[in-house]
Amino acid sequence: MDAPRGRAKPPRHLADLTLAERQEAATGAGLPAYRAKQLSTHYFERLVDDPEQMTDLPAAQRAQLVETFLPALATPLRTLEADRGTTRKTLWKLFDGALVESVLMRYPDRATMCVSSQAGCGMACPFCATGQGGLTRNLSTAEIVDQVRAAAQVAARGGLGGGPGRLSNVVFMGMGEPLANYNRVVAALRRLTDPAPGGFGLSRRSITVSTVGLVPAIGRLADENLDVTLAVSLHAPDDELRDTLVPVNTRWKVAEVLAAADAYAARTGRRYSIEYAMIRDVNDAPARADLLGDLLAPRLAHVNLIPLNPTPGSQWDASPKAVEREFVRRLEARGVPVTVRDTRGREIDGACGQLAATN
Ligand code: SAH
Repeated sequence: MDAPRGRAKPPRHLADLTLAERQEAATGAGLPAYRAKQLSTHYFERLVDDPEQMTDLPAAQRAQLVETFLPALATPLRTLEADRGTTRKTLWKLFDGALVESVLMRYPDRATMCVSSQAGCGMACPFCATGQGGLTRNLSTAEIVDQVRAAAQVAARGGLGGGPGRLSNVVFMGMGEPLANYNRVVAALRRLTDPAPGGFGLSRRSITVSTVGLVPAIGRLADENLDVTLAVSLHAPDDELRDTLVPVNTRWKVAEVLAAADAYAARTGRRYSIEYAMIRDVNDAPARADLLGDLLAPRLAHVNLIPLNPTPGSQWDASPKAVEREFVRRLEARGVPVTVRDTRGREIDGACGQLAATN
């Protein structure tokens, strides 16, 4: 039985706080301020969250430190591996019984963590398994950050196929719409990018926030000076079709979403990415490739085609490879850069849009 949801808040954790706030919390709890820094070093640099492994902490203060800074946030219920151990999906149970999944992927040149920002999702995109389940709740900043810490620890200890490595990239492409959980996601982005021991010190451009296109929030994100990479889930170049694939399009149209992404790119000086799931006979017609190409040719954008990953109960399928190739060709003919995303973790339901988090 799951505990009631949406009532109690996730416990406060050191990853919810800036380094200065951690120091205040320490003194507030009657602890020396430097303990906050010690704990932060353990957590953000050594990637440890188990107080038993923090042997420089005095035994007498340990219980209080744990209570103040390191409450249990998530329990791993299940881990599945695919692609010869280089893809690893973990199902987490949060303090209130809410479930989320995260996926860690090793590539020759990098290790990428795909994090969830919400338990479930309220955006209701019909081709996405998470969207079908609805929204359970927003994750706290620490619940997001701790997925990254756990992954970085696995990577560092060689728990991912290919030997020990450093977690280098984070994509907000797991469960949830990150910009619908704006404040907590922005705080999490700061924890990811702040230099240690304030945060993990990850490079800004190696972090990608993917959104359905919540226009005002894209504008706010540009003003945060975070300079993370923006990805927009477009999936159709025309409003008529996009209204059905990404329901929030009825509120913010294709032109408005692209204008917001352009403003973001102008601010950061960097290309944004357009995600486009290739759905057989739905959005993969050559004419749509032409329309998309015409829309994007003058913009600082790059297209990432995602072969549709099948979700339970859906009749939709991925486009045939020949159709995909023609789509790519037409975009490239208009000078639009295109990549086709690999379908890592498909057989463990760990690929894009397959995260459903059932127990
Ligand atoms: N809410 C964010 C993050 C979602 S997941 C967003 O919508 O951008 C990241 C990407 O996977 C999105 O582009 C999403 O549309 C896509 N996706 C969802 N379901 C999919 C599926 N079944 N097959 C392929 N891609 C899918």
